Amino acid sequence: VIRLSKSTLTKVEKEAVMGVLDREFLGMGYEVQLFEERLSEFIGRPAICVVNGTAALHLACQAAGIGLGDEVLVQSLTYVASYQAISATGAKPISCDVVPDTFTIDWRDAEKRLTKHTKAIMPMHYAGGVGKLNEIYDFAKCNGLRVIEDAAHAFGSLYRGQRVGGFGDIACFSFDGIKNITSGEGGCIVSDDEEILKKVRDSRLLGVEHDTENRFKGNRSWEFDVTSQGWRYHMSNIMAAIGIVQLDRFPELSSKRKSLAKCYADILSSVDYIKILPYDFEEVVPHIFPVLIDNLKDRSVLRKNLLDVNIQTGIHYQPNHMLSLYRDIEDVNLPVTDSIFPELVSLPIHPDLSIKEVEMICEKLLSEIQCLV
Ligand SMILES: *Cc1c(COP(=O)(O)O)cnc(C)c1O
Repeated sequence: VIRLSKSTLTKVEKEAVMGVLDREFLGMGYEVQLFEERLSEFIGRPAICVVNGTAALHLACQAAGIGLGDEVLVQSLTYVASYQAISATGAKPISCDVVPDTFTIDWRDAEKRLTKHTKAIMPMHYAGGVGKLNEIYDFAKCNGLRVIEDAAHAFGSLYRGQRVGGFGDIACFSFDGIKNITSGEGGCIVSDDEEILKKVRDSRLLGVEHDTENRFKGNRSWEFDVTSQGWRYHMSNIMAAIGIVQLDRFPELSSKRKSLAKCYADILSSVDYIKILPYDFEEVVPHIFPVLIDNLKDRSVLRKNLLDVNIQTGIHYQPNHMLSLYRDIEDVNLPVTDSIFPELVSLPIHPDLSIKEVEMICEKLLSEIQCLV
């Protein structure tokens, strides 16, 4: 079966893990420090590693002072991780619509939802592209909001010549098994705000002050103070060892993803009932490859028929304003999200996929749609 997404691992990652196991220091130490240094060099700003991308978002929100009674603007069309990270702080995620070309947050819609409790906006870089991120920063600046970028899809992507995370307020990445690079599970927070960095360094280690510095020297903190709520969110050396190798392999992994996306785009952009995202895959590293199918009556039939010919597909995402936990009492009106959701299907993309397979997937997709629309 052709998988929607998968990890792509070599002997080198496996040997790196064995190296950590042999040294018998599994927690947070040398490898995590090295991975953070490598990430910082790559992105151009300090990076702090944690257990997963959701934890990165949670700690970023907490460090930005977001808590009970506060509101954070976020697109409904995102993974539930964005929402859970916000609500974990006690704050309320405020569902916003997306713009129809890039499926990134529509700041004009977000503007209508501003209240005196609004503290931040969390743009999610859907599929690896950031949309008009400059406009979102302008909007945030005008309204005194922090920007916490959910950049889980966008590791390695460029925006106006700069690496995502290398500019702006706070960016959070995920290194879970299927992201652009993986550390097994894992994630990081990137910022150049010293206050934020200090808070996150402590809060990932149960709030134990300066424990990061001690652990990087191979020590632990036995006498310490704690001044704020922390979490057990640090990364392990096992994870970091995988991440370091994957970061070395980024050029290979990303160019593979880009060439597959270009192939999809070449075939599908001329089909008038299919809409694809308008990105330049020289700049954007495609994490997923969603297509919008005009007048698709029953997505589940299409997905089942494709699975019958061994092609997995996905749905990115079920909008969060439909979930019991986040449904508002008053109906939220998100016309773009509501209209695109039933017609969204994600096609397989990962570095082990071949161009031949992409061509075959397109062929099957088009013939299935002919029968359905
Ligand atoms: C993967 C992902 C996350 C969370 O990352 P985890 O490492 O899985 O916790 C957050 N937001 C989006 C959009 C994601 O795709």
